[in-house]
Amino acid sequence: MKRKFESDMSKSATSKKGHWSAGLLTSMEDPECMVKEDDKIVVIKDKYPKAQFHYLVLPKENILSIRQVKKNHQDLLMHMHEVARGLVEKHTDHEFIMGYHAMPSMQRLHLHVISTDFCSPCLKTKYHWNSFTTPFFLHSSDVSRQLHEEGEVKNISPQKCKDYLNTQLKCHKCTLQPKNMPALKRHILTHIDKQKQ
Ligand code: AMP
Ligand code: ZN
Repeated sequence: MKRKFESDMSKSATSKKGHWSAGLLTSMEDPECMVKEDDKIVVIKDKYPKAQFHYLVLPKENILSIRQVKKNHQDLLMHMHEVARGLVEKHTDHEFIMGYHAMPSMQRLHLHVISTDFCSPCLKTKYHWNSFTTPFFLHSSDVSRQLHEEGEVKNISPQKCKDYLNTQLKCHKCTLQPKNMPALKRHILTHIDKQKQ
């Protein structure tokens, strides 16, 4: 599996400036990438968007990932969710999902806000697809509910994450199980065409 897991990130890697996993920190400060900012968060455009619209909402507070989120971050996560909703409202003709990857590869907590057309040349692999369409994707509302009710975000084991990412391809809109990514990408276009009609 090519995907780099957070557990593979050594302490030295996370502290190395310019390391690939710190790319979001650089983008947060780049006016070209920034979409919105307030005293708590920055919104950037995903550099390798996996759909027509793909944003990342990042806190200014240095939280490494969803795995470090604690009950005291509840208000911050609610705020990130509200900011995400504000972005979605601007695109009335698109459906969106908002959530966190259970085992992210990039540093700094980031909330994915992504349109469900999944129409993008950057969406290439089974892992890309499964990272948004299986329980590997932790929906923001579920995360907030867990924090509120249980005081923590449920931890998904690295093995379970790998299993989700390796799940057989399945369309997110119907029961079709395409045999490979090119077939899936051809198929999801038919859903977009139907929506336009
Ligand atoms: P993940 O850590 O798996 O939740 O996802 C990291 C996301 O960051 C992916 O969707 C990447 O396309 C995106 N990404 C990677 N590098 C950059 C960068 N330098 N600036 C903005 N987005 C990036
Ligand atoms: Zn389908």
